[in-house]
Amino acid sequence: MNERHLSSAEIRNRFLAHFEQRGHTVVPSASLLLDDPNLLFVNAGMVPFKPYFLGQETPPFRRATSVQKCVRTLDIEEVGKTTRHGTFFQMNGNFSFGDYFKEGAIQYAWELVTNPQSEGGLGFDPDLIWVTVLPEDDEARHFWKSVAGLPDERIQPRGLKDNYWNMGVPGPGGPCSEIYVDRGPAYGPDGGPDADEDRFLEIWNLVFMQEELSAVRAKDDFDIAGPLPSKNIDTGMGLERVAYLLQGKQNLYEIDTVFPVIEKAMELSGKKYGASGADGHVDDVRFRVVADHVRSSLMLIGDGVTPGNEGRGYVLRRLLRRAVRNMRLLGYQDPALPELLPVSRDRMGESYPELVSGWDRIAQVAYAEEDAFRKTLQAGTQIFDLAASEVRESGATTIPGDRAFALHDTYGFPIDLTLEMAAEAGLSVDEPGFRQLMSEQRERAKADARAKKGQHADTAVYRDILDANGPTEWLAYETLETESRPLALLREGAAVGALATGEIGELVLDRTPFYAESGGQVADAGVIEFEGGAVEVLDVQRPVRGLVVHQVRVVDGELPADAALLHARVDPQWRIGARQAHSGTHIVHAALREVLGPTALQSGSYNRPGYLRLDFGWLNALSPDQVREIEQVANNALRADLAVAWEYMTLSQAKDWGALALFGETYDDQKVRVVEIGGPWSRELCGGTHVDHSSQVGTVVVTGESSVGSGNRRIEALTGVEGFSYLARERDVVGQLSTLLKAQPDDLVGRVGDLVDRLKQVEKEMERIRLQQLLSGGAALAEGATDVNGVRLVAQRLDGAGGGDVRTLATDVRARLTGDAPAVVVLVGAADGKAAIVAALNDAAQARGLAAGDLVRAAAPFLDGKGGGKADLAQGGGTDVTRIDEALAAVTAAVASA
Ligand code: ATP
Ligand code: MG
Repeated sequence: MNERHLSSAEIRNRFLAHFEQRGHTVVPSASLLLDDPNLLFVNAGMVPFKPYFLGQETPPFRRATSVQKCVRTLDIEEVGKTTRHGTFFQMNGNFSFGDYFKEGAIQYAWELVTNPQSEGGLGFDPDLIWVTVLPEDDEARHFWKSVAGLPDERIQPRGLKDNYWNMGVPGPGGPCSEIYVDRGPAYGPDGGPDADEDRFLEIWNLVFMQEELSAVRAKDDFDIAGPLPSKNIDTGMGLERVAYLLQGKQNLYEIDTVFPVIEKAMELSGKKYGASGADGHVDDVRFRVVADHVRSSLMLIGDGVTPGNEGRGYVLRRLLRRAVRNMRLLGYQDPALPELLPVSRDRMGESYPELVSGWDRIAQVAYAEEDAFRKTLQAGTQIFDLAASEVRESGATTIPGDRAFALHDTYGFPIDLTLEMAAEAGLSVDEPGFRQLMSEQRERAKADARAKKGQHADTAVYRDILDANGPTEWLAYETLETESRPLALLREGAAVGALATGEIGELVLDRTPFYAESGGQVADAGVIEFEGGAVEVLDVQRPVRGLVVHQVRVVDGELPADAALLHARVDPQWRIGARQAHSGTHIVHAALREVLGPTALQSGSYNRPGYLRLDFGWLNALSPDQVREIEQVANNALRADLAVAWEYMTLSQAKDWGALALFGETYDDQKVRVVEIGGPWSRELCGGTHVDHSSQVGTVVVTGESSVGSGNRRIEALTGVEGFSYLARERDVVGQLSTLLKAQPDDLVGRVGDLVDRLKQVEKEMERIRLQQLLSGGAALAEGATDVNGVRLVAQRLDGAGGGDVRTLATDVRARLTGDAPAVVVLVGAADGKAAIVAALNDAAQARGLAAGDLVRAAAPFLDGKGGGKADLAQGGGTDVTRIDEALAAVTAAVASA
């Protein structure tokens, strides 16, 4: 079908070049963690361009193309079972913002897919291409015929569910057209994508944004308000899917960027991928899960995710643990990630050099999680054993569902592991009971997610309030207190007549002094009083432009929706803290640029009273000297007591002024607000609240510098009183250490260094003593030799002894069995779940026809291992420590029959 195999890197380059030649600006992939309240991870190429599609910002180009990193958590369960789903994948996309539309999109896609490779295309056979269109989209059908020359029977109509795109919220929407490649009759029945999505593989989705939606209830249930003023194109082509077709593979786990991990896993486990036989298929899925999850974990950690118990961190934890767990199921018990992750890095590093430069951090995060999981498995095993013995004592044979659930929920113990261990112990598990509890938990999680989503999604109710009353008179810059009238009172998104004490709801006022969260500054705290009571303000947001909404809890009385007059009061302490932190952020930013140069540019920030953090594009970790210098420059700026001022101007004026603006922030088209500190020293577009003079920030204490993924660093600092308290705490710690170690503060580092050295020496000494003790057991073992058929036999189990110790001891005992009679020493050590066996024979025993290698081989199967060696000395090992007695019995039998 293809002319020649293309590597993933080649496909990616061809895609970008194809669209660059056709007037598109090449935009680098955004981080997987791009800020979007509705998304855990970037899951499509269009996500970074959302502000343009939503009309919130004017795009700097009319055509763009990118290869975007994507993660789809919903596809986790599909991995390895279908041929086409990865949790991580790359989406090649081309985008038009009010420029070309259906005809251009179809033409460009067709050219890339079918042009010969010698002309820069992908070289697919045009006769194998199928497309789908929305039944009523006559235009798309027309262009597929006129531009691509596709016959009617390969243009399949498919309904809204498959072929209509929207964002799940009011905004742009439109029909899609998907491109499929026929893999041939060996992969499924005839009949096009509608009949079989495995034989007909979707590689590319073209979205034609043409309508404005006023309400969205489901993928196929929405209201169209009218045509979009300017029509857009958004497309997504799965790089991995194209790669597997063009590399002649069966699925996306066998392509050049993924398969090497499977190869490594084969080497480690000794199992074969693609082996036929009963276990073959199950094992194949395990191999694919390992390869997919290792790669996705690598990419997530690369972008700054760390394992945790919720949100993004939980997804990463699940991926890492599933990878480790599947390696164990493949029979590999040792730490797997140090073997597998570097393989994935070597493959992905070519396109994502930050994986190479950030490798130490990535490896550390991943390996620590595997260690933790191994401990979990150990702890879980104890809990399991306890449950098993309780069940047995009560005369039952089934482990109850809630015990299995607790193992899963509390210890992260996967159910398949519980099932397996129960089977080994001759017990069963109440699986239906377990599944019931699991599904209840899942329902709870879903309800949670729905509730969260609702908060962002349903802006219609706020639009109505805005339309009826006009924008909120917003006085955060002028005053901390206002007399206000209530315009709307909502609870769970619906208007209510009153809020009772303790209830939480949303309150809209005609005017407010409260700062609504934006530009990295958190919302103000404070109270709103009414006749007969008060509410505390929990949060303040602007869900639609121009409307300020307070989230409040009634602390006293009952708040009526038609209260005559309200008194809104921002907590002044809170606000001064917020101003200090926000001005501090600008000052740290300016200091950063002074020390590192103008390429260090803020990529995100967050500040609340007393605390600030600033993310900025920078490849390497800052040295302690650089950090100290930044802190110094910032504090010098405070001491210089620079004036802080702000001014409204047009965006182009602001640019002329050199004001720094951030991608992703939205500003009114007319006037922007520029905040300056010390004149041109710091000029930024900013809507936040600031101090009047830099000295009012009090102090800037840098508390941390860290990586937040691909080419991004984070600097954290404390301001004002919080900064002083931090330093005071450190002083106290130093004081306590001085007392404890009876040393002057300046001598502390040297003293602790000495202590660490001494500790190491003591550990060495203890190890020596341990060995001595072990060896001193040799005499007792030799005395306990039994006579078996005229041979003096020592066959013993040694708990806590590893391979090296066992060997030392075995030869020691043999040396103690002096005399001419045959002597055989076989010792089996059990440590860390592993068995180590050593056999040592004297000459007389060998003369009897006994050989150490044979004895080890006789015992090894019981240890689930192997081994061998010479006639006088042999050793081996295994992974099963439960049948050591049988192994020793086998040795005794072999000696007896010699
Ligand atoms: P499918 O129906 O096969 O799951 P989709 O309809 O969810 O795919 P889109 O949302 O249209 O896919 O995404 C655009 C393109 O991205 C697809 O045509 C496909 O090539 C690719 N893609 C989507 N999901 C994945 C995935 N999990 N792994 C690899 N590629 C994917
Ligand atoms: Mg699709």
